[in-house]
Amino acid sequence: MKPICDTRPSLLGQTPEQIQAQLASFGQPPYRGRQIYKWLHLKNADSFLEMSDLPLSLRRKLEDHFRIKTLHLVSREVSRDGTEKYLWELVDGLRLESVLIPDPPRVTLCLSTQVGCALNCRFCATGRMGFSRNLSTGEMVEQVLQAQRLSGRRITNIVFMGMGEPFLNYSRVIQAAKILGDPEGLAVANKRITISTSGIVPKIYQYADERHPYGLAISLHAPNQEVRERIMPLAEKFPLDQLMAGAAYYVGQHKRRRITFEYVLLEGINDEPVHAHQLLRILSPIRCKLNLIPYNDAGLGFRAPSETRVQRFLDALLQAPFTVTVRRNRGNDISAACGQLYVKMGKRQRLCLQPLSPE
Ligand code: SAH
Ligand code: SF4
Repeated sequence: MKPICDTRPSLLGQTPEQIQAQLASFGQPPYRGRQIYKWLHLKNADSFLEMSDLPLSLRRKLEDHFRIKTLHLVSREVSRDGTEKYLWELVDGLRLESVLIPDPPRVTLCLSTQVGCALNCRFCATGRMGFSRNLSTGEMVEQVLQAQRLSGRRITNIVFMGMGEPFLNYSRVIQAAKILGDPEGLAVANKRITISTSGIVPKIYQYADERHPYGLAISLHAPNQEVRERIMPLAEKFPLDQLMAGAAYYVGQHKRRRITFEYVLLEGINDEPVHAHQLLRILSPIRCKLNLIPYNDAGLGFRAPSETRVQRFLDALLQAPFTVTVRRNRGNDISAACGQLYVKMGKRQRLCLQPLSPE
């Protein structure tokens, strides 16, 4: 019988080399790490005992020393439009959400990277939770594995756009993307993996220099410094001109890439034609696409603009040299749309794990 407080570490989210290193004392040949890695990630194994090409004695030993899944499903809600929202409890009792969006032939999973978020954007429900902790790579990868299992669908697209700021948990997020995109991992196409940042400028340079094959989205939400500071406090530390310089550097490093700029439309704050003209000016030099997101009500005192106002904004962008899209809201009836992810803090009753080191 396993102890009530299960302290076995999980092997999910570890590379074949890291897994091999954990087996050091087991006297195993060097290919075992890769075999176990594939069972865990490609074949979505739930138990070591099903790893039929490993010796039975090793499977038993693995079972004694390690575990696989650590996210406990608290609830699963399905929207009228097919969007699904999962609420998970982590081993330390904290909770987070992920959202699955079927849009045939695509099935997108919106992953969380942190519990809560420290950046406190005024319009975002997650920001209101404050920050609890970073997720481990395994906890990110597991959101995909479990969603795949629960929904019975193969996930084709990943967006790091759930709770938290991916670039404040940088190395773990990059390792998760690598495993998700690895043909021996979850085998999602690299170009269908997108990481979104609210604008942690030094990390944009690092991401550009490392030349990752995944997409980049930037949550812009304002066409000038004054509006951006009003709705995104991080703009004081990372001003708009520095953010745009970082974005230009990124597209300079990736000759065939476009950045997706996200822009949530907030009535009376950033949705006037003058704002559209300012946007046109700052975005035109950059190879990009602009994704307008009508505000999803998160009970924070903002309003979505009327259709007439959205159309007026679009009209002011008619001459834009970049593509402009308006995001369709998905999963509104289950509060699964962008910026609506919010969970009450769980009871921290099972503190059995080693805390993660800071990023
Ligand atoms: N922290 C990262 C990843 C979250 S992505 C980032 O901010 O980029 C979630 C996207 O939804 C971001 O563009 C975010 O700004 C946007 N968003 C937040 N609250 C929203 C709301 N209430 N309505 C519409 N979009 C919102
Ligand atoms: Fe954090 Fe992104 Fe929400 Fe801002 S929009 S509070 S960065 S999750």
